[in-house]
Amino acid sequence: MPHDHPHDHPVSRDHSEPRPAFAALLDQVLKVLDDKDILTTAQVTAQIEDMDGRTPTEGAKIIARCWDDPDYLDLARTDLQAAAGQVGIAMPAYPKFVLLDNTGDVHHVVVCTLCSCYPRPILGPPPVWYKSRNYRARVVVEPRDVLAEFGTTVPQDKKLQVVDSTADCRYLVLPERPAGSDGMTQEQLAGLVTRDSMIGVTRLNVPVT
Ligand code: FE
Repeated sequence: MPHDHPHDHPVSRDHSEPRPAFAALLDQVLKVLDDKDILTTAQVTAQIEDMDGRTPTEGAKIIARCWDDPDYLDLARTDLQAAAGQVGIAMPAYPKFVLLDNTGDVHHVVVCTLCSCYPRPILGPPPVWYKSRNYRARVVVEPRDVLAEFGTTVPQDKKLQVVDSTADCRYLVLPERPAGSDGMTQEQLAGLVTRDSMIGVTRLNVPVT
């Protein structure tokens, strides 16, 4: 296909690698959007770079404040976008984001069985295993076994809820607050929170001091 148009290619910024098969189609879609003044390729690239630059540190701020501030927890449960905004995370209006409480009675774990839907504005890019066919296929069939491979034992008498993300709705797990974390500041609490605990494949422990 001729390749004389001037814009960048957000899906393959490293031109030393072969471009994926869908890239030519994406080029044409971007060109139409650009030609119609709907969206420029530069805007698409900037959005990708913004999301790629985010890290689980953003999500940890939400979790720490949920543990520390009951009013904020109420807000996060009803409007996670607004709650994220309150801790300085710029959120898109779409898709919907939902907080899942892990408690003594129920443990949530998140997957996207179809592809790799993930709360990128809050956690950054997903880990490689999250996108793997192995994880996506198995966690819905044998979740206790999969979690055990992450070192997480969920007792048989505890409900284990596997939640399937979609393009329209993304989930953030609120891990159980670690025992022994009373009196910590929000900053200290945030330091305890891991990416995997916010996906639900691990639980949190207070570090031994
Ligand atoms: Fe997906």
